[in-house]
Amino acid sequence: MSDRPSFPARLPGRPGHVSTEMSTRRQPVAPSVPGKEGGSVGESDFAHMRAHMVRKIEAQGVGAAAVLHALNTVHRHRFIDPALIGQAYEDTSLPIGLGQTISKPGVVARMCELLLGARIAQGGSLGRVLEIGTGCGYQAAVLSLVVQEVYSIERLRALHEKARANLRPFRIPNIHLLFGDGIAGYAKGAPYAGIIAAAGGDALPDEWCEQLAVGGRLVAPIAGQNGRQALVVVDRGTMGFQRTTLEDVHFVPLKSGIA
Ligand code: SAH
Repeated sequence: MSDRPSFPARLPGRPGHVSTEMSTRRQPVAPSVPGKEGGSVGESDFAHMRAHMVRKIEAQGVGAAAVLHALNTVHRHRFIDPALIGQAYEDTSLPIGLGQTISKPGVVARMCELLLGARIAQGGSLGRVLEIGTGCGYQAAVLSLVVQEVYSIERLRALHEKARANLRPFRIPNIHLLFGDGIAGYAKGAPYAGIIAAAGGDALPDEWCEQLAVGGRLVAPIAGQNGRQALVVVDRGTMGFQRTTLEDVHFVPLKSGIA
């Protein structure tokens, strides 16, 4: 493992400070991009599409205002290949290279809302959260608006670098990007109020449970005995762990080692 960030991470051009403020100041002014019919799609079009996506996700049952606000704030179109930009605000996963995908925004919202249900979350806010599977960095950006500190680990160096590049313009001070195998969690940042996995394994790594704070919650896709992946929630209490299996999901596989 390498690239231990400074704490809090300081990004160039702005003094680092820890904040959960949901500020649109973090969003840089965007150039317009070509639209399908040769016209241009500007930021106001994207804002419109984003708001529409958020309304649909709300209609699907996500009610946490902080999560809906975060989804409405983060520019998902900045995290995907320009060729796919027209689909940026559809509730779908999209390829981000190396066989990986940016998660469906509806599932990102659902998992973030579940995470906020941790007993340790006071007044709706969570402390330190570990994300396994940074990918392009989208979910890390969403999480940065709803929790206090995000540690996000990625096993593919090229995607770790891509996420760094994608996130740089937003100058988000409370995201710490790590390169390494997240199956081992990230012990240096433990204990975590929340752990969220964006890749699905066959079993829950012991390290994740060990690194969870008492009162903390883990949300991860795990394969069941039927071979189907489902969202699993693990709550750590003073007496032990409570595991709940929820709906089926489709995440890329959790793999061991770095590449
Ligand atoms: N969080 C992303 C989703 C990325 S897809 C989003 O915002 O949309 C899942 C990612 O998990 C992939 O980039 C994959 O490389 C990564 N991954 C799989 N196994 C991993 C592991 N053991 N440690 C860290 N990352 C892993």
